[in-house]
This record gives sequence, structure tokens and C-alpha cells, in this order.
Amino acid sequence: MSIQHLQHIINGTQTSGGSGRMFDIYNPATGQVSRQIEGASASDTAQAIAIANDKFAEWSKVPPSKRAHIMFAYRQLIIDHTDELAELISQEHGKTLADAKGEVGRGLEIVEYCTAINNHLKSDFSADVSNGIDSHNLRQPIGVCAGIVPFNFPAMVPMWMYPVAISCGNTFILKLSEKVPSCGLRLTELMHEAGLPAGVLNTIVGDKEAVDEILSNDAVKAISFVGSTPVGEYIYQEGSKHNKRVQALCGAKNHMIVMPDADLELSVDAVIGAAYGSAGERCMAISVVVAVGDETADKLIASLSPKVKSLKIGAYNEPDVEMGPVISKQSQENILSYIDAGVSEGATLAVDGRVASNEHDGFFVGGCLFDNVTADMSIYTDEIFGPVLCVVRVATYDAALKLVNDHEYGNGTAIFTRDGDTARHFTSHVQVGMVGVNIPIPVPVAMHSFGGWKRSLFGGSSIHGMEGVRFYTQLKTVTSRWPSGIRKGAEFHFSSGKDV
Ligand code: NAD
Repeated sequence: MSIQHLQHIINGTQTSGGSGRMFDIYNPATGQVSRQIEGASASDTAQAIAIANDKFAEWSKVPPSKRAHIMFAYRQLIIDHTDELAELISQEHGKTLADAKGEVGRGLEIVEYCTAINNHLKSDFSADVSNGIDSHNLRQPIGVCAGIVPFNFPAMVPMWMYPVAISCGNTFILKLSEKVPSCGLRLTELMHEAGLPAGVLNTIVGDKEAVDEILSNDAVKAISFVGSTPVGEYIYQEGSKHNKRVQALCGAKNHMIVMPDADLELSVDAVIGAAYGSAGERCMAISVVVAVGDETADKLIASLSPKVKSLKIGAYNEPDVEMGPVISKQSQENILSYIDAGVSEGATLAVDGRVASNEHDGFFVGGCLFDNVTADMSIYTDEIFGPVLCVVRVATYDAALKLVNDHEYGNGTAIFTRDGDTARHFTSHVQVGMVGVNIPIPVPVAMHSFGGWKRSLFGGSSIHGMEGVRFYTQLKTVTSRWPSGIRKGAEFHFSSGKDV
């Protein structure tokens, strides 16, 4: 099979990378290299930033309604190309086509949100804050913004960022994951087809070399990062050191509490999709079930085990496949080593999916289910990012809540119960950013904002929705008086609205 060579898109033009390092892009279902790209060097990245910086003066003056028109055209193009985009995602990521279409749909919702950008940028006006004096707010773009994205959502996560930033009047550098670049590059082409002027969105593929240029280049004013916690913490610290605005959305270990009064069938169906969908490679995947009471745990294990054993594993284009491969050989080995560690640390491996890794050519791991997991085990403490579900048994709701709150991550969580009091207490007291009640993956929709707590988010700012608009704009407050207003002569005291 011939290998396709990809290029970066800088200033609306396909451009070769100059890092001297060629990235292999795999089809994880076969383990074969299907595409390659030479990574962006520091100087390629600096060139893209310089172009975006030059373009900012012009783009920031384009009225928001004109930017919204481009987003309307883009929305239609994404709808028209959904199948093609989903195919590109599945070819490089390995997730099923239905799942890939789902993430394109969630990205599309952000673009739809941006078609109303005039409304989101609308500001406050206070008349007569003092005699003849008015005050109003402006939300203005900040300049060149950059997005650094992970492999697990090749369409949705980039679309959390650049449509919002661009609609707000910024220019953008999108640094795609070197493992799954094709969909993000195609989305960039479609953005230009929709009428975006060249140089507003510049898309590069690279690694630390490109990222370090983004972190230190003075022209970059804001950085959105989504990825693992160690890298996110580095990006937050380095970007902040260079006085940039940084939001870094990071790793997770999402707990789902199942109370004794929960609807068991609903809980089991929910956790099967949330733990094993996309081979567990979702930052909102459920990786821990906290069963309250042994009876709840026994029933869950009995009901989950046959379903996990019979998960249909295969390539995205095979019929009825429920779970694809993981992203890479390295990831497969990492997940297998965690499963070995769980066994040696004393957890009960109720379903052993390790055998699937030998039955297929690609990077497969079968669904694994651990029972009797405790808080000191590495399968509990660490983000495994694979199809491995841990069941922790606790005696009470209070113990379940404490377990969730003591974990270092705080991205998503869920409670399954029929009791309103318990659900209300949980939503109020849990130290996690996104909470589901009888919903296993509570990913906020476009007009709300996505973000975790604790070591799942650095920089305090959630992404998309109004939090996104605030992140990609700076607030200016104007206080004005006109000559026909009251004149009181020179004043040497600090005045207030009560002075008349
Ligand atoms: P990753 O941290 O390895 O990579 C993320 C990005 O950082 C990529 O663009 C990569 O090229 C770049 N990068 C990697 N190493 C770097 C380094 N040393 N210096 C500078 N840049 C570097 O993450 P991943 O494996 O691509 O994605 C999986 C992770 O992303 C998981 O931890 C998952 O939880 C997290 N994630 C979080 C969210 C969220 O919203 N919280 C969403 C999706 C994924």
C-alpha cells in the first residue's frame, strides 16, 4: 500500500514541514503505517505565528456578523462532509464510524454556537452611573491564539477551540496531534472553502519542538491545551511564565457511583458504553464504578461480566463492531502492563481482555473488568486510557463521595440513584467539574462549558460556551461623559456615583 504524504496549512497554503523528523501515522486496526508528515520545526511554527499576527489587524476589524456568515457556510460544509470526516477519524484513531460521526456532530454544535457570535459578544451598558456619565463593556479579541490538541478527538477537540477564537476576532495556530492529523487538516481546508481569509487559521502538525515555539513566542497571547496532565501542567507553567493566558484541560479518572436503589439495567447499559466506547480513550470515560454495598457490587459484576466478554472488537469498517483498537503499540503495551499490575496488586480480574491483543494484527486490547479494586492500586490511581474498568466496593454513600473527592483528578463523575436527596447532595458536594445524574458521560453541550477541577484543569478557565468567549476576548470598560453633561470643575477626591 502506498503511503500518503500530508502537509501543514499555513497562510491557506499546503506547506512542507522542516523539522527533519517524519511522523508515521498508523491505521491502529492493522498496525500498518498509512500516512506520513514531516513535523513542523520551530521556524515553521514561528512563520505561522508571524502570518497570524500580521493578519490579526485586518481580521479583528471584520464585523462579528460577517464572521458569523462564514460560520454558517462552514456549518453546512461540515454537514455535507460528515461521512468523509468520520472516515478520516476512524482510519487514524480506530474508533467506530458511528462514534466518529458523533464527535463530528458535537464539534458541529460549537460551530452552530458561533453562528450567533454577535449575540455572545453583546455587552452591558449602564446609563447614568453618575450625573451625565455612562459606562459600558467591550469584549475585544486578544491576538494570536493557539490550540494544542490530543489524539482522542481529532475533530471535536479542535472545534472546541478555533471556531470560538476566530469568531471572536482572533487569529489561530492549531497544533494537531501527530497521531491523527488528517481530519483536522481537512477541517482547515473546509474553513477556507467557507470563506475564511488565508492566514486566520494556520494548522500545523508537530511535537514538543513546535509546542515550545508556541509557548515562548511573544506574539501568541493565549493557549488552549487539551491532553495529558504532565504535558498540560508543563504547558500551563511555561505559557504562564511567558505571560500568556493558558487553559489546560487534562487527564481524568471518572467515577460512577451506583447506589443500592439505582436502576440496575440502566446503570449497566450506561457503564458499558461509557467504559468501553472508543476503547476507553475518552477523557470522560468511566474508569471506576463505585458500588455502594456488596449486594449492588455482586449484581453489577454478574450483569456486566457477560456483556464485557461479548464486546464485538474489530476495525471501524467491519459490521457491528462495538470497540476498536487503541491508538498505538506503545499505548497497547502500557495498558497491558497496568492489567498485569492490577492482578499482581491483588484485584480480581473478572474479565480478562488481554487475549484479544494476540488475536488481531492491530493495537487491540479486549475489555477488562476488575473487581475488589482498592484506592492504593495503580489501576485505581492512574489514568490508564484503555478499556479497563475497576469496581471499587464501599459500604456507604459517604465513603463513595470521599473516594471521589480524594482522587487527584476531577474531570467528570456520575451518580446512579432514584433518590433526589442523595443526587442533590452529590451534585453539591462532589469536587468534580462535570457531574451526571443517571447520565454516565456528562459532556456539556455547546452553550455550556467543558472543564474539570483539581489536576484535570490548569488555568481555571473551562472551554467553549460563554467561558470560551471570555477566554478568547479581553474585557474593556468604558466610562464616558459628554460636554453637555454636568460640569463641576476640578475634583481632587475619588468620586462615586452618589456624588451629585
Ligand atoms: P498528550 O498529552 O500526549 O498530547 C497532547 C498534545 O500535546 C499533542 O498535541 C502532543 O503533540 C503534545 N505533546 C505531547 N508531549 C509533549 C511534550 N513533551 N511537550 C509539548 N507538547 C507535547 O495527550 P494524548 O495522548 O494525545 O491524549 C490523551 C490525553 O488527553 C489523556 O490524558 C486524556 O484524558 C486527555 N484529554 C483530556 C480532555 C479534557 O478535556 N480534559 C479531553 C481529551 C483528552
